[in-house]
Amino acid sequence: MPEGPEIRRAADQLARAVVGKVLENVWFAFPELALQAAGLVGRRVLAIEPHGKALLTHFEGGQSLYSHNQLYGVWKVTRAGDRPQTTRSLRVALETRSKGILLYSASDIELWPTQRLSEHPFLAKLGPDVLDARLQPMQVAERLLGSRFRGRALSALLLDQSFLAGMGNYLRSEVLFEAVVAPDLRPRDLSTEQIEALADALLAVPRRSYATRGVARRRGARLRPDLQVDHGERFRFRVFDRAGEPCEACGSLLERSDAGGRRLYWCPRCQAC
Ligand SMILES: [Zn+2]
Repeated sequence: MPEGPEIRRAADQLARAVVGKVLENVWFAFPELALQAAGLVGRRVLAIEPHGKALLTHFEGGQSLYSHNQLYGVWKVTRAGDRPQTTRSLRVALETRSKGILLYSASDIELWPTQRLSEHPFLAKLGPDVLDARLQPMQVAERLLGSRFRGRALSALLLDQSFLAGMGNYLRSEVLFEAVVAPDLRPRDLSTEQIEALADALLAVPRRSYATRGVARRRGARLRPDLQVDHGERFRFRVFDRAGEPCEACGSLLERSDAGGRRLYWCPRCQAC
């Protein structure tokens, strides 16, 4: 499952192909959308932005395309008019004079008035996106200490998209290690310093992963070829996928558990309760 930084990089690729350009061809597979396709021709694509695992494509004229890839959906960038050979079914084609972006296999696709997107049932349930540049550590700290979240174990909270959208499994381990807090603790168990460290790490780790295009490492450090996440992108994990290796801070052997059915890695000494 791709996490926030990977989803945002994929969205950036789509944006580079069509944002700012006028749509010359718009095609939707689903009949209720197909009726609205002609109304989008001649309009510009204003922006493409992820929110959690949903993708929002905003058009001139006040409409936005909401799409969620679930497990099967995939976007492709092509030259205008090209249709790659694939057994997948095409669901959306948005084409400018030179480039097109095509969505295959997704079924969760809707057109919404941009102004009313916050009422969308999926989006309304999401917390703020960790890669939203407007989000500040202070707001994250307030969220951690709010009545809704302060009694939840961090190992579960950090995967809950209604707490912060865009978090995911490798980010969970890396954030907890960077903040030096135990996964079993709840926000209400933490000191003020720990809340601040956690709020900082919750924004810093995903942003570093996104900004370094998946290659986060110290200057001069050599990248191990086996440290790979999806799509061949490289990210220097400090704990994730490193059970049995020495902690870079204290030398203790890193441990793995399965919290919430997903792999969690931590240092039993640095992150002791
Ligand atoms: Zn350690």
